[in-house]
Amino acid sequence: DNITIATLGSHTALHILKGAKKEGFRTAVVCEKGREVPYQRFNVADEYIIVDKFKDIVNEDVQQKLRDMNSIVVPHGSFVAYAGLDNVEDKFYVPMFGNRDVLRWEAERDLERKLITESGIRMPFKYENPSDIDRAVMVKFPGARGGRGYFVASSPEEFDSKIDSMLKRKWISEEDIAKAHIEEYVSGCNYCIHYFYSALKDEVEILGMDSRYESNIDGICRIPAKDQLEVGLDPSYVVTGNHPVVMRESLLPQAFEIGDNLVKTAKKLVKPGMNGPFCLQSLCTDNLEIVVFEMSARTDGGTNTFMDGSPYSYLLFGEPMSMGRRISREIKNGISEDKLDILIT
Ligand code: ATP
Repeated sequence: DNITIATLGSHTALHILKGAKKEGFRTAVVCEKGREVPYQRFNVADEYIIVDKFKDIVNEDVQQKLRDMNSIVVPHGSFVAYAGLDNVEDKFYVPMFGNRDVLRWEAERDLERKLITESGIRMPFKYENPSDIDRAVMVKFPGARGGRGYFVASSPEEFDSKIDSMLKRKWISEEDIAKAHIEEYVSGCNYCIHYFYSALKDEVEILGMDSRYESNIDGICRIPAKDQLEVGLDPSYVVTGNHPVVMRESLLPQAFEIGDNLVKTAKKLVKPGMNGPFCLQSLCTDNLEIVVFEMSARTDGGTNTFMDGSPYSYLLFGEPMSMGRRISREIKNGISEDKLDILIT
């Protein structure tokens, strides 16, 4: 016993740490110098490991400190981005919550598409070649650009002219063009569904939902259409925040079905499968079809919308239940059932 729940000080660390304290664990945060303020001011961390750069979390001395505290590290989007997937897979010898092998499946677009489509979940149609563009498409570039420089086009000519203008502005390089990912533009409303798969109970829970608040597209929408044409702003899709949201109740069977199916497929493709939080980022069309354009295989940033619980987590738990607290609850149950080994890798 005497376990410490640790994470990197960024992304969803606040409710991961707060939730761990609520469940009675000691908490530790690995923090880049100057970034410790939120954890101090909200008083969620018992121990601080201050590093020069976030990526130093993989340094041997930091790993040793974490092991000395008997830590279980909870991964999140920034942890994976800063530590580096290769390091997380091969050089990070601290127990981690969840299946660390599944992280690659969210990071590589082809693997992600395989996992989602083999689950029978509808994804935006993917174009192999710009000359095939026959309707509105969204063009994305690889790497953690966070929606910067994504654009919409509806013909091969429009694609070419937008690419040219981005090259001129040096937003992209010639190499990026070959890697451009072109997919059907799905016109609908954004729902990011936050699931928790309990390996102990073999059950998928829906704990919350959010929609993204993106710059500058959500700002552009406040400009009347005729003025939009005149100002000539280029849209970008950089996440700056999140809104809590609920779905109409008749959509919930579909939301559960896609979550269940993903978990089933992951058991086959990425043994032992999902374990803990995951998120399906979707657009719901006017046919009431949920189309998934992206997946997180760990706690997603949008879980910050329900640090004290969501309508859905209320239905399940009747007490404030964040994603972070749910993780620690699972660890606590794993300890008391003597099954901690199936929760960590
Ligand atoms: P990353 O791949 O680094 O996670 P990201 O999460 O910022 O990037 P996406 O989630 O792929 O990028 O997309 C950013 C935003 O673009 C979405 O939140 C959504 O608003 C919009 N979007 C993405 N795909 C589509 C699509 N096929 N149709 C319509 N809008 C889309």
